[in-house]
Amino acid sequence: MKDRRTRLHVDILYSVQLLLFSLASVRAGRAVTRLRKLPAGRSSILDFLDLSALLGLHHGLRTMKRRKRDHQRALLARLTRHVEISHDCLRPRRIRTRSARYAAALGEMLGLITRPRCCVWCRRRGRLQRHHWDYAEPLNVTFLCPDCHSVADVMVARAQSA
Ligand SMILES: [Zn+2]
Repeated sequence: MKDRRTRLHVDILYSVQLLLFSLASVRAGRAVTRLRKLPAGRSSILDFLDLSALLGLHHGLRTMKRRKRDHQRALLARLTRHVEISHDCLRPRRIRTRSARYAAALGEMLGLITRPRCCVWCRRRGRLQRHHWDYAEPLNVTFLCPDCHSVADVMVARAQSA
């Protein structure tokens, strides 16, 4: 029993020693790179840009930004088109309402409309729906839970029939 314990102890000691040795060699390596002649104005041989270029990050970041900008522009163009459709009285009502709902979704994607954390009426958390009081105002929505949304729909229907 005692023998096993000492062997275990030795194993642990050995791994600790290995770890210390590897740390020491990493330090030594750094010291060697420090000793090499550095280009003017460089704090180390590889700065962040070099490293990111090596990893393909720099190029990737640029294209990502451009793609994001193009995507936002495409969303905005689509939003404009659907707002126009929702105002086009020559189109059937179901097409206009569909475009208004889609325009609201696009507005939310673009950050023009912010979704609250809970239902605006009852403050319950959970799945929220965008309620349109008037489809002629596609971006004017109230975020309601399904229960409150059905109440709001009844209110709109009564207002229209009155
Ligand atoms: Zn609610």
